[in-house]
Amino acid sequence: MRDFTPNHEWLSINTATVRQSRGQDLPLTDIIEACARREIQAISPWRDQVAAVGLNTVSKLVKTHGLKLSGYCRGGMFPAATLAGTQAADADNRQAVDEACELNSTCLVLVVGGLPGALAGQAVHKNIGHAREQVFEGIERLLSYAKSCNMPLAIEPLHPMYAADRACINTLEQALDVCDKLDPAHTGALGVALDVYHVWWDPKLQQQIERAGKNRLLAFHVCDWLTPTRDLLNDRGMMGDGVIDIPKIRGWVEAQGFQGYSEVEIFSTLNWWKRDHAEVLDTCISRHRSAV
Ligand code: ZN
Repeated sequence: MRDFTPNHEWLSINTATVRQSRGQDLPLTDIIEACARREIQAISPWRDQVAAVGLNTVSKLVKTHGLKLSGYCRGGMFPAATLAGTQAADADNRQAVDEACELNSTCLVLVVGGLPGALAGQAVHKNIGHAREQVFEGIERLLSYAKSCNMPLAIEPLHPMYAADRACINTLEQALDVCDKLDPAHTGALGVALDVYHVWWDPKLQQQIERAGKNRLLAFHVCDWLTPTRDLLNDRGMMGDGVIDIPKIRGWVEAQGFQGYSEVEIFSTLNWWKRDHAEVLDTCISRHRSAV
């Protein structure tokens, strides 16, 4: 297992972590400059943050600073109640692949979606089995496009508390079942983004990481699970402040040969987004060295 204590060579910042500074929106351009000043080697930006300042601007800035992308957030949201909805999702996902290519990302992260309408507050049906079928078919369609552009797709299993509104793929096992059906040869074109926040509790975690193997492990996301968790979406903890044994999970992942970035992804309206982004980034660096 790699030693992270001497430096932060393998730290990536998911830019949602500093989406706000002192409660105010922080433009992606400022985030990139702040990361570059700290010799952070990689980031993982969100599409809305890229769109707000322009894809070309971000692309140039990333190249100027020699930054890598440990992922691009995000594609997915496949289930829809109508054919038009499915077609709109497909078109948007192909565009996400194109953007990921322009930014030379390692992969496009997929948050696959749940029950149609649930994210907006009103699910149009209760058939999660059907939603899962639509997810499978959506990934199948997107995969053929992504392969033609050489952009790997990383399915991110989300904690079951998000099954209704964000992702009906909730365990690593489920994600790997999809991978095995759509990419039986383990080509690297389809894999998983493993986020400790979503999977730390899973009794099959180690076994499924071993099942995944190097070619399926495309991204590794870290933060911590706080007790109590005060908000289901936006109360993620800084590494070391919660109950997740992050080094143990990283050890399992690296035992498979994963040598990528450790991406810090913290959504925190109640704490970190209230603080100055400089303090947040400095804390990410020190905790990456001491708690990851
Ligand atoms: Zn994640």
